[in-house]
Amino acid sequence: MITIKEIKVEGYERVIEAQDPESGLHCYISVHSTRLGPALGGTRIYPYSSPAEALADALRLSKAMTYKSALAQDGLGGGKSVIIANAKTQKTQALLEGFGKALDSLHGLYICAEDVGSTPEDMEVIRTVSPYVACLPREHSSGDPSRFTAWGVLRGMKAAAKFKWNDVCLRGKKIAIQGVGAVGGKLANLLFWEGANLILSDVDHPLRHQLELLYGARVVDDIASVPCDIMAPCALGRFLTPETVSQLQCQVIAGSANNQLSEPHVDLLLRKKNILYAPDYVINAGGIINAAAEFDEGGYDPRIARDRVNAIYDTLLDIFKISHRTGEPTSALADALAEENLRNLVGRRQKPILFD
Ligand code: NAD
Repeated sequence: MITIKEIKVEGYERVIEAQDPESGLHCYISVHSTRLGPALGGTRIYPYSSPAEALADALRLSKAMTYKSALAQDGLGGGKSVIIANAKTQKTQALLEGFGKALDSLHGLYICAEDVGSTPEDMEVIRTVSPYVACLPREHSSGDPSRFTAWGVLRGMKAAAKFKWNDVCLRGKKIAIQGVGAVGGKLANLLFWEGANLILSDVDHPLRHQLELLYGARVVDDIASVPCDIMAPCALGRFLTPETVSQLQCQVIAGSANNQLSEPHVDLLLRKKNILYAPDYVINAGGIINAAAEFDEGGYDPRIARDRVNAIYDTLLDIFKISHRTGEPTSALADALAEENLRNLVGRRQKPILFD
């Protein structure tokens, strides 16, 4: 029997904890804001060391989703769910179905999608229990978001290259990618064909070896201190701590990972080192922009989604230019722009999403 508990958290619309001893489910769903539309965000399956750590991650990530969607003006709010489990050894059909029941209890306030540890196929299982699921691998759905996220990161890198070196061309640039999974792997492929020289790291050694051979890449264990032009954090969050920033030998940070800064003031440290930081939720918005296209009145069209993702280039270039002019760090600037959209209801969804 599943038990669902409400947790009151200041500044958050709705947070629930669900547990089901039979399937082993222990999850949190955090709805940060639905001011601009229903909250959409991924379902992360990860072996957190404690429930407190899992809850903190859900809260942090759901707030970032609010800001990401507000800036992308995609008519969605911010939410995220986390399941405490090892995705390789503990992910079962019963666990996913249990999660589906927790999801369904929110009646569409939150829509889930794939994330670290979950796949589009897992979304199909959850969909058998609840309709509030996006990014399904089927007709009329937007499918795996990671190819759009990777494309958006490439567009963001080009904006950074334009700003830093006055040239969008990445040929010959040394680009280091931390984490070559769904997004990082696709980004490596795009960058290889752009002519970049790749440096890769991943805790999954067979995977990184495969890409080492495919792309003639160099693999390293400690990526933070590697000399390169662009560093792309594409693994988990909090890569940018005061300690890692002191080791960095790159000119640009542009990667897909969510919540890259361990603390807000770290963007000031980056600025002091003259490292251009592409704020995480701006550069990694390709996936959510694509998912939102699923709810277009005319139905999902990947070409429309692609063209919307292309705009990440302009959004970032604007942020870099304003930051240069005003001296405000890029991440604080992105927050201010997102908050302005939230305050003024810019990009709010006009018609409700209908689920069957
Ligand atoms: P993924 O699980 O497919 O890939 C992550 C990779 O990072 C894995 O190969 C893993 O082995 C590796 N990794 C984990 N810890 C590492 C470490 N300490 N050092 C090196 N490698 C490590 O996940 P993904 O979907 O590619 O997402 C990557 C990041 O991008 C996550 O932070 C995610 O939240 C963010 N993101 C993803 C999407 C998307 O569309 N999938 C959208 C927006 C943001």
